[in-house]
Amino acid sequence: MPRTEMPEVEAEARARSFREVNTGYTTQLAMLEASRCLRCPRPKCIEGCPVGVRIDEFIGLVAAGDIAGAAEVIAADNSLPAVCGRVCPQESQCEAVCVLGAKGRPIAIGHLERFVADEMRLQPPAEVAVAEPTGKRVAIVGSGPAGLACASDLIRLGHAVTVYEALHEPGGVLVYGIPEYRLPKEIVAAEIDRLRDLGVQFVVNAPIGKAETIDDLLADHDAVFIAVGAGLPRFLGIQGENLIGVYSANEFLTRVNLMRAYLPDAETPVYDLRGRRAVVIGGGNTAMDAVRTALRLGAADAAILYRRTEAEMPARAEEVRHAREEGVRFEMLTAPIELIGEEGWLRAVRVQRMELGDPDEDGRRRPVPIAGSEVEIPADVAIIAVGNEPNPLLRKISPDLEHTPRGTIAADPETGRTSKAGVFAGGDIVTGGATVILAMGAGRRAAAAIDAYLENGAWGG
Ligand code: FAD
Ligand code: SF4
Repeated sequence: MPRTEMPEVEAEARARSFREVNTGYTTQLAMLEASRCLRCPRPKCIEGCPVGVRIDEFIGLVAAGDIAGAAEVIAADNSLPAVCGRVCPQESQCEAVCVLGAKGRPIAIGHLERFVADEMRLQPPAEVAVAEPTGKRVAIVGSGPAGLACASDLIRLGHAVTVYEALHEPGGVLVYGIPEYRLPKEIVAAEIDRLRDLGVQFVVNAPIGKAETIDDLLADHDAVFIAVGAGLPRFLGIQGENLIGVYSANEFLTRVNLMRAYLPDAETPVYDLRGRRAVVIGGGNTAMDAVRTALRLGAADAAILYRRTEAEMPARAEEVRHAREEGVRFEMLTAPIELIGEEGWLRAVRVQRMELGDPDEDGRRRPVPIAGSEVEIPADVAIIAVGNEPNPLLRKISPDLEHTPRGTIAADPETGRTSKAGVFAGGDIVTGGATVILAMGAGRRAAAAIDAYLENGAWGG
């Protein structure tokens, strides 16, 4: 049986709209897709899931029409299924190892997870068991997937939880980075409302490190979990990055997603892209989000400049396919060497063509410049999406906390324990830029470790 395709809005219509691209399985489609699963005696798909969701079991329940049962199985390991079903890179995780992939196409595990989560959102919320109050207080710094997952587990264990968020809206990259057409904001908002209903307090516009430090938080709380992500954009270090029309992808996406820069009365508008040429430099999810957003803001031409080939691109395969269908141009084996301006405004990007050499330390083939291949690509807007790193403000949060040479917080991967008693950390601030599911998993492991620490008060080991 062929894989059941995800229904989606037609490319031409969606390329100019922020409406969600994938429209979701119907019950009939979900049951059809679930019925392809072999229910393997040793399901490889589970090994491919970073948080070990019992995939074979939940798919079996979908096939039998027991959606509530399937939701319960997923919820045991994943507290953000509607998010992960939409944004996880399944093709390199669970679906990459599904046995059906050997001879055909793997089960659409992500689409089924999304279906189950969306169906459950339509039902009255299930009763959530919350333990008796323990009298212990936990501060969480940062409200991305790591912070939210940690808050969700700790509140159920009876601890009082306060989440401090630097921005004016909680959600982290889920609200300021990933665009509406991929992850509708109402899904993240519903998750946050659910946590509020359970008693989690959110304090927004609270950048810890500016006024308050971790020591201040420790004075009022029994433990602290740092989940501030890695939101400081990297730049290329080439001439012209200060020209008008040059953005980091972070700034561009935050203005559009969080500040609604596309509305005529927006307080922080972006450069009017209608009829203009935009280039995005990079090949990850952030680059795909930026280029498809530029197209939706009316760019006449939107192109990706990437110094390797599509085979090495870290973006999710679905994002690359969607971008191509919507009309994004891909200039592969192309690296910018200068941003050229005229009276302070960007006019073009000078690029050099590359070829692939030997593999580097990541195992990806290294791009090697081809001498004499420089050309100019006309551009009104250039968006730089070449990665993020931890914000140096972090050092001010707690100067005595141990950091790695990469600027991330040194923490035990299993428990999130840092070098400072009572302080835990997880998500991108520990791993560097990673994925939603890994951040969520780190938040949950830290919640378990914090609970144990609050119970016995012991540190070390
Ligand atoms: P974040 O989500 O970064 O949240 C950290 C929060 O902490 C933010 O809200 C920030 O404002 C807040 N904060 C920072 N400093 C402070 C402070 N001093 N005080 C208080 N609050 C603070 N992953 C996927 O799996 N699939 C995708 O499709 C995908 N697409 C992506 C697209 C973009 C544009 C980006 C940027 C990332 C994408 N990722 C994707 C990566 C994924 O979103 C991250 O790995 C994940 O969000 C990390 O979670 P986190 O909780 O560690 O941090
Ligand atoms: Fe089903 Fe594929 Fe997992 Fe086997 S590996 S149980 S076929 S999803």
